[in-house]
Amino acid sequence: MRPARALIDLDALRHNYRLARELGGGKALAVVKADAYGHGAVACARALEPEADGFAVACIEEALELRQAGIQAPILLLEGFFDAAELPLIVEHRLWCAIASPWQVEAVADLATDAVLQLWLKLDSGMHRLGLSPEDFRAAHARLSALPHVGPLVMMSHLARADELEHPRTNEQAALFARTVEGLAGETSLCNSPALLGWPQVRSDWVRPGLMLYGANPFPDHHELAQRLRPVMTLESKVIAVREIEPGEPLGYGARFVAQRRTRVGVVAMGYADGYPQFAPNGTPVMIDGVRGSLIGRVSMDMLTVDLTDHPQAGLGSVVQLWGNEPTIAELAPRCGTSAYRLPCGLKRVPRSYLNP
Ligand SMILES: *Cc1c(COP(=O)(O)O)cnc(C)c1O
Repeated sequence: MRPARALIDLDALRHNYRLARELGGGKALAVVKADAYGHGAVACARALEPEADGFAVACIEEALELRQAGIQAPILLLEGFFDAAELPLIVEHRLWCAIASPWQVEAVADLATDAVLQLWLKLDSGMHRLGLSPEDFRAAHARLSALPHVGPLVMMSHLARADELEHPRTNEQAALFARTVEGLAGETSLCNSPALLGWPQVRSDWVRPGLMLYGANPFPDHHELAQRLRPVMTLESKVIAVREIEPGEPLGYGARFVAQRRTRVGVVAMGYADGYPQFAPNGTPVMIDGVRGSLIGRVSMDMLTVDLTDHPQAGLGSVVQLWGNEPTIAELAPRCGTSAYRLPCGLKRVPRSYLNP
């Protein structure tokens, strides 16, 4: 069997969730959209359900996957519904729903139901992606609050630049949010992972951690609090072939690596079709039997190559860790021109095994 695999440590996931909730000081929705950022939404939700205040996903398809797996906890649809025809299913499955556009407000108002909808009214406080303008927000709050089939509203917004710790935008967004919700009834929700870790003055009743649950530092640099996170995913495979090449000999597609010395090459069963970054440069860190080493040569679809010259103990069958506690996805991502969000999300083909269920 191909040795590529992703190990998902559910204890680390629980640890990170507890840290997020502790930092938030209130309730925390575990964001498990996009298959829990590639970690497996059902398994992650099952591991967190006994303690999580709820979950958040991008769309009803993701929510129904969790319901069908038996998850009973609240699930918020972060983008609400895409079509009013989804509303009966939202009612049937007791889903919470973000409302971010005037047409969604009207669709809720037009709904005939005996149930009570749990809605999160979303303000565009400066990200300018989803959300109501401050004027529309206050009008929508009044309109929805008056409907018998709408429960107490939660008021939310999303931060665009919380990962830039020196940038004034986060405080501006938080101030606009505070001004807009002033005097309105309902709980609030503002913080994503970088806000939880980096902006202690920005707080709300509900926090929405995503990336930090999976143990990744959301900041470009070392961050003290982020050190307390535990990486959840370890991506590893094994050396499946070893050869030595002479100085001057090229390695792999396009001869991106040319040996400067007699080089012992290990071929590893892991490629970009598994989600490993295709454009990882020569020298990208990997762990070879627990010792730091380097990628050499272009990453292929199913294989990549590492330098074993300085790893005389390593050989056929050696375990190569592509990411995990070292290198972390936060370290790897910028070297490969991608982000810590993108790396685990891109996982494909590799079977996942769950530790500490
Ligand atoms: C994805 C998402 C989050 C989680 O963001 P992280 O940066 O991963 O913590 C929170 N809120 C909304 C609205 C989102 O779309």
